[in-house]
Amino acid sequence: MPERRKKRKKRSASKQSGVSLFVIVILLFSAALLIVKGSGFNKPIPDVVEIPKEVQESIKNVKPQKYLRVPILLYHYVEYVKDPKDTIRKSLNLEPHAFDLEVKTLQEAGYSFITLADLADGLDDKRTLPAKSVILTFDDGYRDFYTDVFPILKKYQIKAVVFVIPNFIDRPDNLTTWMISEIIKSGLVEIGAHTMNHTYLRGLSLNQVRYEIEQSKSYLEKSFGIQVISFAYPYGAFDNGAIDEVKKAGFRTAVTTIPGTFSMDVNRFFLYRVRPGGRVGPDLLELLERTKVTSIPKNENILS
Ligand SMILES: [Zn+2]
Repeated sequence: MPERRKKRKKRSASKQSGVSLFVIVILLFSAALLIVKGSGFNKPIPDVVEIPKEVQESIKNVKPQKYLRVPILLYHYVEYVKDPKDTIRKSLNLEPHAFDLEVKTLQEAGYSFITLADLADGLDDKRTLPAKSVILTFDDGYRDFYTDVFPILKKYQIKAVVFVIPNFIDRPDNLTTWMISEIIKSGLVEIGAHTMNHTYLRGLSLNQVRYEIEQSKSYLEKSFGIQVISFAYPYGAFDNGAIDEVKKAGFRTAVTTIPGTFSMDVNRFFLYRVRPGGRVGPDLLELLERTKVTSIPKNENILS
């Protein structure tokens, strides 16, 4: 009997050490996961800030016939962020009072707020744009565009462009169908397309690229009875294939996340944009009027 008891004791001891080993492995695994997460493994996809080499190559010998200095400002969230731990939102956010001040700065400096449709007309010589024009663009169609931006647009009676992702409409953080109809009715807002699913277009099959681009245009046009002529590449990611599809779909312009202020016939399907951050007053004006535009390829033809 004592012998047997000993054996049983031994067996349960080894069972226990097996369980604790399992717990240790789980703990180590979770710690490793946390380290990987903390080291930026889970960080958002960075925006593209340079013209892809293949695109640079294809425009190397093209001489621009027309170029206009029309800064296109890029915004995401404009709101008072409620969750202090939401660092991604905070990094992409501009508080409404700061946005109001930016608009005031631009209006007092004599800027006219035009849309991308106006810019396309300017590039096509269909109309002469005001000497000092600026375009405000908002990516992703967040709900704060209706709650925080739209009231400021109405207050100053200025125009802006919002890029909407059809499959995100009516989500809790995004514009609702009703809100989009309301902002269209105001006549102050141009609706642009931003793919069906906020898809990174570079490296996708041509069929997927075509679907995301074409469908986002036709969906918005059918749903809201409007013409959608401007497109924004999610993450600013584009290549020659995406440019071709944007042209074929019937868009008249497309914007990227490449910094710059020159809009030309050459880059009308990969227009540069400026991130104003929280700049106001002379800081903001200096940013828009800066003569050195580093994002234009080092190519005499483009700069001449
Ligand atoms: Zn986006």
